[in-house]
Amino acid sequence: MDKLQLLGMDRGELTRFVTEDLGESKFRARQIGEWLNRGASIDEMTNLSAALRARLNAIAVANPVTILESYRSKLDETEKFLYALTDGNLIEGVVMRYHHGDTLCVSTQVGCRMGCAFCASTLDGRVRNLTPGEILGQVAAANRHIRQQDPERRVHNIVLMGSGEPLDNYDNVVKFLRLVNAPEGLNISLRNVSLSTCGLVPRMYDFAEEGLPVTLSLSLHAPNDEIRRRLMPVANAYPYDQVIAACRNYVEKTGRRVIFEYALVRDVNSDLKCADELASRLRGLQCHVNLIPLNDVRERNLSAPTRQTVEAFQKRLALKNISATVRREMGADIEGACGQLRRKVLEEAGR
Ligand code: SAH
Repeated sequence: MDKLQLLGMDRGELTRFVTEDLGESKFRARQIGEWLNRGASIDEMTNLSAALRARLNAIAVANPVTILESYRSKLDETEKFLYALTDGNLIEGVVMRYHHGDTLCVSTQVGCRMGCAFCASTLDGRVRNLTPGEILGQVAAANRHIRQQDPERRVHNIVLMGSGEPLDNYDNVVKFLRLVNAPEGLNISLRNVSLSTCGLVPRMYDFAEEGLPVTLSLSLHAPNDEIRRRLMPVANAYPYDQVIAACRNYVEKTGRRVIFEYALVRDVNSDLKCADELASRLRGLQCHVNLIPLNDVRERNLSAPTRQTVEAFQKRLALKNISATVRREMGADIEGACGQLRRKVLEEAGR
């Protein structure tokens, strides 16, 4: 039977579990909660009796995520993690060190079923959803890891931009957001959290109603339906205008601007005609465009345009009053892009 994941419980659930199922005092729940925030295992909870730890170990796991391997970029301080889950599945994540603090990129599913043409995470489809404890477990494990390097460091920002489509695992992702924000938990401000979606329109409307001040990133990658459908099968289900309308609704409901992700792909979506069309589609929307030169994925025959093309694209958007920045490439030497590391490891292991 699957073990209980303590990290996936909110404080009320943890207290009920400790008092009702274990017959221990409420105070124990608080002690355990503090250990969980630090990313400790049950064996490390040394202020619990050995007998209680043994009882806990028999039915529960503290953090269902462990860092199996980590790779540090020689180019910048980016560090990539390969995590193991309790059922043997592997996921990955990356922590980027910026001057304003550490940003952790978190996965929400093992694999992905959205089928984007340029993405390594989706090549073998979706294996399963991650639980709230497994999403939070990545934060707890990474936090512990970077703090061991430097006690000043901690995960300050979170981007749900790892493997998986967060809105395709809606309930678990929303529970994770509430857990990570809880004052008695990691207490990370939701203003420092971005959720990236390929554009599951009905779920975008639901998400706008959750009362969570999360920044929405929309993976747009095209100026129109025709090009978008070539890159993203989800565009067949939800046309461009509907996606933009859902973004507009998110801005109105939350008062937060939307970020559009636009991966520039050579000979597909990166000429100035595309920039002009994109600018006219986004006119009047409170938004920002992140331009990302495509990370080449070996399995796909798609590549990034030249640097000049990228700069020209950005300049053209600026000319049309659309704020856009070219995302700095980080960790290029450590399979930094979404899904690349897990894939490489699985391939090398012949799986
Ligand atoms: N499923 C969500 C979040 C995961 S992908 C989404 O689609 O937004 C995180 C971001 O990385 C998305 O914008 C995705 O389109 C982008 N991405 C995936 N593969 C890429 C690649 N090879 N090069 C550049 N960006 C990529």
